[in-house]
Amino acid sequence: MDISVFGQPEISPVLDSEKLRLQYCEAEKRLLVFDYDGTLTPLVKNPEEATLSTQALHSITTLSADPRNSVWIVSGRDQKFLHEQVGHIPELGLSAEHGCFIRKPHSDSWESLIGQTDLTWQTEVTKVFQRFTARTKGSFTERKRVAVTWHYPQADPEEGAHLAQECLNLLEETVVGKRSVVVMPGKANLEVRPTCVNKGSVVTRLVDENLIAPGRQYGYILCAGDDHTDEDMFRALQRDVPTERICTITVGPTSKRSAAKWSIPNPAETLFLDLPPRIRHLLWQRQQKSATANAFFKRRHIAHDMRDIQEYPGPKVNTKEMALGLTTPLPTTVPGSTM
Ligand SMILES: [Mg+2]
Repeated sequence: MDISVFGQPEISPVLDSEKLRLQYCEAEKRLLVFDYDGTLTPLVKNPEEATLSTQALHSITTLSADPRNSVWIVSGRDQKFLHEQVGHIPELGLSAEHGCFIRKPHSDSWESLIGQTDLTWQTEVTKVFQRFTARTKGSFTERKRVAVTWHYPQADPEEGAHLAQECLNLLEETVVGKRSVVVMPGKANLEVRPTCVNKGSVVTRLVDENLIAPGRQYGYILCAGDDHTDEDMFRALQRDVPTERICTITVGPTSKRSAAKWSIPNPAETLFLDLPPRIRHLLWQRQQKSATANAFFKRRHIAHDMRDIQEYPGPKVNTKEMALGLTTPLPTTVPGSTM
């Protein structure tokens, strides 16, 4: 495999975030899946320093608290790291090591998805990575519960890419083919893990778990990631879900080839669904209306969603609707849980 040509033949247009916000608002049940590194956080030289910004943590917490949302972080990180960073958010689902483990919302325990998979290849792969670690300044080998990863974030980019290709070729000659493993090139890393799971299989599982009963299907699915391993999620959603309900986003330059439908240039824009206050205010108003309105007004609210949000002038009360009992006085602060 040649790392330089790895990827999909399509270029994803830049995300139309306003349009997708409206689709999100209209859905009664949503699945939101985020990769961690390079998607929720910028990529950093030292992987241990990849922590969520205050704003990103607030957004993830707010989105997770909405009972209409099922929010998951699906990462290549191990359980310990994810627990330390976001384990305190009870409503948030987590998947570690590219789908090998999951921690469901409101659970403290991790579930293994790899069964009795043979892991004896770890020793052989670790030895190969350690040889390259010795040759490459600033690189290191990480042995997780299942996956083994060689990181070279501090290496000269050109030299690092060259050595990664050499390492990958060596692994393909010695391990891949004999064992049920796959070598995945990431951003400044190479990872070896079992073929039986990947991020795509986790996303498929999350979607399938809500296909059991009518009315449980997600009306909106957002999935965002930045590297090759995230393409498995994008492809799984292309295969399993009607296209009008999914929003797959790759983080990176617009020239990047990806199976995602959309692209955004940097991680700071991934959490665009954590709406600005004026939009949140409108949603709060609409919820108040929906709680009291009859079917006619509910249909009208849905039909006017786009116009209302685009033309929303600010936090003013519609006195006519107040008189009809369709709205209540606005709160001094907008409840975050309405998102
Ligand atoms: Mg990533």
